[in-house]
Amino acid sequence: MIATLLGTGTSSGVPLIGCACEVCRSIDFRDKRLRTSVHLDIDGRSFVVDTGPDFRQQMLRTGIQRLDAVLFTHEHKDHTAGLDEVRAYNFLQGKDVPVYAHKRVLSQLQTEYAYIFAEKKYPGIPRIQLNEISNEAFEIEGVLFTPIDVLHHRLPVFGYRIHNFTYLTDLNYISDEELEKVYGTQILVLDALQIEPHISHFTLDQAIALVERIQPEQTYFVHMSHKIGLHREVEKRLPASIRLGYDGLKITM
Ligand SMILES: [Zn+2]
Ligand SMILES: [Zn+2]
Repeated sequence: MIATLLGTGTSSGVPLIGCACEVCRSIDFRDKRLRTSVHLDIDGRSFVVDTGPDFRQQMLRTGIQRLDAVLFTHEHKDHTAGLDEVRAYNFLQGKDVPVYAHKRVLSQLQTEYAYIFAEKKYPGIPRIQLNEISNEAFEIEGVLFTPIDVLHHRLPVFGYRIHNFTYLTDLNYISDEELEKVYGTQILVLDALQIEPHISHFTLDQAIALVERIQPEQTYFVHMSHKIGLHREVEKRLPASIRLGYDGLKITM
C-alpha cells in the first residue's frame, strides 16, 4: 500500500492569496500546500479521499492514471470542490466513478452538483455513482475501510482506517470509543492547523497530545495553515516520529 499526500493545506491553500508572510513567500516546496487530500494505492486499486478545488492539478502532477473510487470525509468546499474533474476518469475508464460518503454529504453533493444528478443530463458531464456509508466498516473492491466518526466543531466528519493506516482530517474531537479503532495503527495522518486555538481544527499541541495517546510508529500532520510557520522551523520542534506532511509525500507500508 502506498499513500500519497496529494495536498496538505487548508481551505485557502498556502500561499494564501494576497499574503506576504514568510510562509507564503517561502521558496521551500514543502511550504507550498494545495488543499488536503490523499491518494491510496492498495494492491493496484486506486482511491482518493476528498476531491478539493485542486483535485485536477493534484492528479496531473502525481500522474494518477486510474481511479476506482472517491471517499469523502465531509462536505466542506476545500474537500469537495473538484468533484466535476472526475469526468477525466469516466472518459479514461468508460464507467461511472463510485463515490462513498455519509448520507448528509451525499445530499449536499446532489445540491451543489445538481446538473450531475439531473434526470436529463447534458452530454459529457461527470458520471458518478453514489454509495451511502454509515459508521460501519465497508468494502470497496475487496479493500476494507473503517470509518472513524470525529467532530469538526459540531460537524461529524469521517476519518478512515485502512489496514495499518489511519487518516484523520478536519477534526478537533474524537471520542474514546472511536479512538479504539485507531489504536494499533502504524501510520497516522492527522489534522494540525496552526499554533493558536481554532474552533474546528486541532492545534499543533492538541494534535501532538493525541499522537501521544495513539502511539503510532509514524505520524504526518496535514491541513496546515500558513500561520503554522515555516516547515523546517516547525519540524525542528517535533520528535522524529512526528513530521509535517508535504504535498507529494509518499508513504509506503
Ligand atoms: Zn472542514
Ligand atoms: Zn478542510
